[in-house]
Amino acid sequence: MYMMNLTSLQFKEMKKTVDTVLLPIGMMETHGPHCSIGTDVWIPREFVRRLDQVIGDRVLMAPEVAYGHSWALAPFEGTIDISAEAFTPYVYEVGKEFHRNGFDQIILFNGHGGNIPSLAVVAEKLADLGMKVLTINWWTDYREQILDITKGPGHGGEDETSLVLAIDESLADPTIVGDYQIKMNPKIKFPNSGKTLYKDGYLGNAGNATAENGEKLYQMMMKLILADIEELWSVAYESIN
Ligand SMILES: [Zn+2]
Repeated sequence: MYMMNLTSLQFKEMKKTVDTVLLPIGMMETHGPHCSIGTDVWIPREFVRRLDQVIGDRVLMAPEVAYGHSWALAPFEGTIDISAEAFTPYVYEVGKEFHRNGFDQIILFNGHGGNIPSLAVVAEKLADLGMKVLTINWWTDYREQILDITKGPGHGGEDETSLVLAIDESLADPTIVGDYQIKMNPKIKFPNSGKTLYKDGYLGNAGNATAENGEKLYQMMMKLILADIEELWSVAYESIN
């Protein structure tokens, strides 16, 4: 069920049977000339819509944190980059508030690569607070299976663009881009290195993206995500107290 639709009385009632909250975390950033700035919010939202149909009676779907951290893509038009120093404690505070409201399990559903280091810190701190935490970074967690459907992963690449097209074909136009690859040693950073890596704001074979493959990706990943959530629920641990 969607948190935003509940009254506080319904919220209180719901907590009698629900102790898991799903918090989507996205980003507003350039995804090349062909794909919408909201891509990293649109994709988690679509997963939430589908998950709500299956496990909506067991999970509270919280509204997303729409702004994240993106050092590499900050030089591009449309990127709203929140520093990691500000973003990390902010997301932690959101999680902590859900814990104070009675939730013991949280799913951090991430849509954006630049958020990963911050969310690793958040997950540890929420676990220290007494929560069970599942972090999902769909494009890395399920990468092997994604490659069976779309061969050209990357930022705004074939996989992401296909997932956006499957939501609404007006949100992306793969006909205006091609296949852009550049090899850069990820261990080396220099001023504005994102501008060199992402020349037009994307990476990968975006021109190959289709709504049809996007739909296949959703259906494939839904099974894997549901299995991960089942595993979260089944984890038993020894209390430190
Ligand atoms: Zn993205």
